[in-house]
Parts: sequence; C-alpha cells; structure tokens
Amino acid sequence: MTIPSIALNDGNHIPLLGLGTYKTPADTTAEVVGEAIRLGYRHIDTAALYGNEAGVGRAVRDSGLPRSEFFVTTKVWNTEQGAAKTAAAFEKSMDELGLDTVDLYLIHWPCPGNDLYVDTWRELERIRESGRARSIGVSNFAPEHLERLAQETSIKPVLNQIELHPALQQREIVDYCREHGIEIESWGPLGQGKYPLLEMPEITAAAAAHGKTPAQVVLRWHVQQRFIVFPKSTSPARLAENMDVFDFALSDAEMAAITALESGRRGGPDPREFNA
Ligand code: NAD
Repeated sequence: MTIPSIALNDGNHIPLLGLGTYKTPADTTAEVVGEAIRLGYRHIDTAALYGNEAGVGRAVRDSGLPRSEFFVTTKVWNTEQGAAKTAAAFEKSMDELGLDTVDLYLIHWPCPGNDLYVDTWRELERIRESGRARSIGVSNFAPEHLERLAQETSIKPVLNQIELHPALQQREIVDYCREHGIEIESWGPLGQGKYPLLEMPEITAAAAAHGKTPAQVVLRWHVQQRFIVFPKSTSPARLAENMDVFDFALSDAEMAAITALESGRRGGPDPREFNA
C-alpha cells in the first residue's frame, strides 16, 4: 500500500499519514515501530517528551531500508526553550535517535508566557542551516505566534502540528496557515479516545456505506482535507487498519456531516495559556 506524500514550502516532501508515538512505552517502541515499518509506514512522529526516541531510531536503523525512505519528526520540549537549551536538547534528541539527521524538528508548544519561542525558533533556523534537520516547524501555535515569527525571523515554518479532530477543527489557525503556505498536522486525530467519536452516527453511517471502520472514516476525513495525520496505536491490527484509507473517498455530504460535529471540545491544554 502506498501512502501519498505532499510537498512542504521548503521543497521537502512528507507522507500524509504516519505513526504517532505519544504514550507508546519506551521498552516496546522499537517493536511497535518495527511492525509499522513492515506494514508500510515510513513517517514516525516522536518528541523528547515521549521518552521513546531511542526506540524510534532503533527501528528505523534496524529496518534494512535506506534512511532516505523515512520521515522522522521530533520536538523540543517546553523546558528546553531558548537558544542554548534548545541547541543542547537537539543534540540529546539526535543521540537518542542515533540518526545523522531528523526530517522535521518542531517547537512543541509556544508557551507564550515564557516568551522564548522566537529565540527558540532562531536556534531551529541554525539547526536547519547545519543540515541536521531537513525541515523545521512548530506545534500548537496560534496565528499571533506565527505572525511574530514572520515579523522577527527569516524562515517560515513548514507546518503547524495542532490538536484537530471533528469536535475541534481550529478553523482560525487552519485558515491562517493555508493563506501562508504552512501545512497542518492533526494531533489527536481520533480525538485520543476522549469522547465517543467513533460511535457517532455521522461516522458509523459513512463507515457502513464504504465497508470501512469508523476510525478509517475519521482518518479519511483528515487526509481528504490535506491534514497530515499520525494516529497512535500499538496493536498490529490497528496499525494496518489505520493506514488503509487511500482506496475510498467520502462524498461531499459525508464530509459535511462530519465537519458539522465541531463543538469546540478541546482534549489538551489551550496553547495560549499553557506555559509548563
Ligand atoms: P489519537 O487520536 O491518535 O488516539 C489514539 C487513541 O486511539 C489510542 O488510545 C488508540 O488506542 C486509539 N486507536 C488507535 N487506532 C484505533 C482504531 N483503529 N480504532 C479504535 N481506536 C483506535 O491520539 P494521540 O496519540 O494523542 O495523537 C496522535 C499523535 O499525535 C501522538 O501519538 C503524537 O505523536 C502526536 N501528539 C502531539 C501533540 C502535540 O502537542 N504536538 C499532542 C498529542 C499528540
């Protein structure tokens, strides 16, 4: 099964679907990621916070496939913002991953109360110039945070990784990013299991109509809007299920019915207030 890729604003390409690893235990990460790679996943999303970069890197190195086939993302955690700390955090992530380069390095949260994200971004620019991160981007940034980067720094983020699922569609951020050539990644694409998304009639009806599962319908709703997704699972059956979303299309009416599920329901912290 081939997963399509899309072009980023710096000319690099990213597979539209990958594997999330938040809460994947460190001691089983290499095994889970190895299984995902055997199934055809080539894009893995991790973070220093997740404590499992070593397992991700090991699975990529042990796959027997060329490094160039993979797209690996990691992120600098909030307590490591500011140029010097971020430079050290990047070295630590690269040591953990055991790779020469990372495909995408992200600022995990803006933490506006700490006012360090501009300085942190300048360090990401230097890291990109060194060639060790092929692309750089942000996560959980609101338009005003992106606007400050645009005013005060040189390189535009390739993408913004934000909480996005049918109950929280973040249209203001999506519109800003689309206008400025910044791609969107949906974190928590299945709602993190925090509300009964997969039982909602709009989803189950589309699943029945297409002979697909509710999770596949929700993931299709994302990729059909060009939102990059990396659902998390540790089960081989679900890993296979979650990537199998490129052989059907939701109708305009099915897309609209799912889009109408917006309720402003946030599962994670509000990035405008989160400064941990
Ligand atoms: P998710 O929406 O991917 O949900 C994961 C949950 O859904 C798990 O409990 C899993 O058991 C269940 N699930 C997976 N496949 C399923 C299926 N086919 N059917 C039924 N249930 C299924 O939530 P997530 O893991 O939080 O988000 C995806 C990834 O996004 C993370 O793993 C991480 O890589 C990233 N993330 C980033 C941030 C950020 O701040 N940048 C925050 C959270 C997550």
